[in-house]
Amino acid sequence: MKRGESLPREKGVMDKNRCMVCATPGAFEGGICDPCKAKIRGEAREQQQQIKKDADRSLRKEGTVVEKKSRG
Ligand SMILES: [Zn+2]
Repeated sequence: MKRGESLPREKGVMDKNRCMVCATPGAFEGGICDPCKAKIRGEAREQQQQIKKDADRSLRKEGTVVEKKSRG
């Protein structure tokens, strides 16, 4: 067994006084600064909309092949 003293241990420890997205120094709620929060929220919303669209599409698609599927 080798001693890995040279390994950077700090890497695994999150700095609570920094935004974990852009590393801006400061105490942020949830560890993320407001601009990044807004960005993430916006992206999440977009993603949800995309998922909704996809689901809608696949539903419609399935609706057209349901008759074929019912056999067998
Ligand atoms: Zn940030």
